[in-house]
Amino acid sequence: MTALYQFLGDIAVITLDHPPVNGLDLATRRAVVQALLRAQSDGAVQAVVLDGAGRTFSGGADIKEFGTDRAMQSPHLLDVIELIESFGKPVVAALHGAAMGGGLELALGCHYRVASAGTRLALPEVKLGLLPGAGGTQRLPRVLGVEAALNLILSGEAVLAEAVARLPGQKLLDLLVSDPQQLRDAAVSFARSVAADRPLPQVRRLPAGHPQGAAFFQFARNTARAMAPHIPAPLACVDAVEAATTRPFEVGLAYERERFMGLMYTPVSRALRHVFLAERGTARIADVPDDTPRRPVLAVGVVGAGTMGSGIAVNFLDAGLPVALLESSAEALERGTAAVTRIFEGRVKKGKLSAEACTQRLALLQPTLDDSDLGRADLLIEAVYEDFDVKAAVFRRLDAVAKPGAILATNTSTLDVDRIAACTRRPQDVVGLHFFSPAHVMKLLEVVRGRETAPDVLATAMALARQIKKTAVVARVCDGFIGNRMLEQYFRQAGFLLDEGATPGQIDQAIERFGLAMGPFRMSDLAGNDIGWAIRKRRYSEQPDMRYSGTADRLCEMGRFGQKTGAGWYDYQPGQRSALPSAEVAQMIEAHRATLGLAPRRIGDQEIVQRLVYALVNEGARLLEEGIAAKSGDIDMVYLTGYGFPVWRGGPMHFADQQGLLSVVQTMRRFAANPHDDAAFWQPAPLLEKLAAQGGSFGADHSRGGAAS
Ligand code: NAD
Repeated sequence: MTALYQFLGDIAVITLDHPPVNGLDLATRRAVVQALLRAQSDGAVQAVVLDGAGRTFSGGADIKEFGTDRAMQSPHLLDVIELIESFGKPVVAALHGAAMGGGLELALGCHYRVASAGTRLALPEVKLGLLPGAGGTQRLPRVLGVEAALNLILSGEAVLAEAVARLPGQKLLDLLVSDPQQLRDAAVSFARSVAADRPLPQVRRLPAGHPQGAAFFQFARNTARAMAPHIPAPLACVDAVEAATTRPFEVGLAYERERFMGLMYTPVSRALRHVFLAERGTARIADVPDDTPRRPVLAVGVVGAGTMGSGIAVNFLDAGLPVALLESSAEALERGTAAVTRIFEGRVKKGKLSAEACTQRLALLQPTLDDSDLGRADLLIEAVYEDFDVKAAVFRRLDAVAKPGAILATNTSTLDVDRIAACTRRPQDVVGLHFFSPAHVMKLLEVVRGRETAPDVLATAMALARQIKKTAVVARVCDGFIGNRMLEQYFRQAGFLLDEGATPGQIDQAIERFGLAMGPFRMSDLAGNDIGWAIRKRRYSEQPDMRYSGTADRLCEMGRFGQKTGAGWYDYQPGQRSALPSAEVAQMIEAHRATLGLAPRRIGDQEIVQRLVYALVNEGARLLEEGIAAKSGDIDMVYLTGYGFPVWRGGPMHFADQQGLLSVVQTMRRFAANPHDDAAFWQPAPLLEKLAAQGGSFGADHSRGGAAS
């Protein structure tokens, strides 16, 4: 059952009943139509109330149906709306919780709308690279006025019913009910009060216009273009709303439909829809059910108040949790506390935090040099130097002071979480929480699941991540986890491109034009070139077969560690961050190339982008194969939230899916045949090869959870 029918004397109440958000999938649409036909044929029914079961009226269309046959199957949402609008008896929408997207469009088809205070109204389609495709762009301007409607449609953000009700001249809501408990009764009374009204009001008959239409829409177009240059949806929204003001309703509706269908199949909308689902999918862990009990976390301890520890502490203070911050010396503790204070005070200066909230947060911070102060913490996060022996000693101490059941987390970037766990008598309580720098800003959190990490520890870590507003992705233990392991291959490939003739500037610009926030060389200069150097030195002894371009090592030998030394792949003026081409580096690259006996060749932007992105994709496929990442959507979320991959490309794995995996593999084979290139590097991961041969995709095989086959 996806819609309930109740007869209350003279009023029929049709209730959308499709948990969790009354999504308007095919079955629900059919059920609503059947209920409406029943109300039509029952002579005793004087009017209809349409409401929603559970916490919300309707979250709108079912996005999993988009681009499939079911979305097109009759009755389409437009048919249901048409049936309601032309219904012979009054239909009153009763809104609570949220009326979003198709849910709001359905309500706009009703003759009247009542809403309880607190109801969120939105047309969020633009966030999926679409426009409201069931009349929203035509009806909303008629009830709200063009400017407010376009604002709502372009932002995709929700407004509260009470704010709408206050707008002068609005015709979106006929009645605001202050007590949500009274909504049903109020809607039924309202329906009785209008039962005899004829003709019935229809939004389509209202006028839509703007006194300075042409100028206003030109202005809106300029803004939309500037805000989202790669995303076609905002401009289409402006066009469709303009059509509402210049064309008859039916023509405008057809135009909206045409633009909607055009957007539906754009790569950008596919990518944004993928991201929407992938984001929600990260929380699902195949063998850890949603109802896994969580451990209460009411107090936190952070060990090490350096770059990471101070940022990590800020996250929990923001969430209102007390944090004990432990250091090994008074000076380091002083520095760490000052760093935390600076972050909050910086927000106060920018007007993002009130002075009072700043004081409250700092009051929750307990700087300490005494291990025993960690005894109260339910979660302890270690962020000391990246050195196994140092971390092992810290975990032995934590094991001694932490209360039973406390979660012991490490922020290590490269060390083996299982080995760290083995330093304690409670490896089941140990988990990796890999924050990214700056930890109070970056959205990404890799939750590293050790061999013995207990399911409730994992479930608790995921819930905590939500509480501190991070996107958490589960990774199994390996060197570099998901993000940095892939990044290493990306950097190796960037080095090979230098050897073959590209310059750091050309490579950075090509990938930045593709949409990445920062190219590999600017990124490395920012993070510090010595970090990669340390990792490579380890690789040279552990994996002597792995080939690297030597340029990055030469750079470090020259002491060019990046922005912090005023020189890296680029030159930097004192106190400035803009990257200037360096003649010294160009010379070094040339000399290095000569030692390799390579003649430089011109490399086009497309090849640069493919080589960098496919390097990520191939390693991503290996991560899936090994079960380090459970789903390709998780890998995409890592790159979108931690590495500046453009959201409108959907992440590296989705991008590969969109190119077609066969085409990806063929391109990789072409690179492997290049005499300068490394054939071993371009050996496709077996999973990639298998999917390509089957005409499969990472998303279809991995988005539903579970480890790789
Ligand atoms: P950092 O050098 O800035 O800070 C480390 C702090 O730990 C220092 O303040 C030091 O005094 C303190 N410390 C050392 N031993 C201690 C002990 N026994 N007890 C208490 N405090 C002790 O280092 P960081 O950049 O903050 O890195 C910390 C951890 O986070 C490392 O494991 C690193 O790999 C990881 N990490 C760093 C980044 C990054 O970008 N910096 C990103 C992700 C993860």
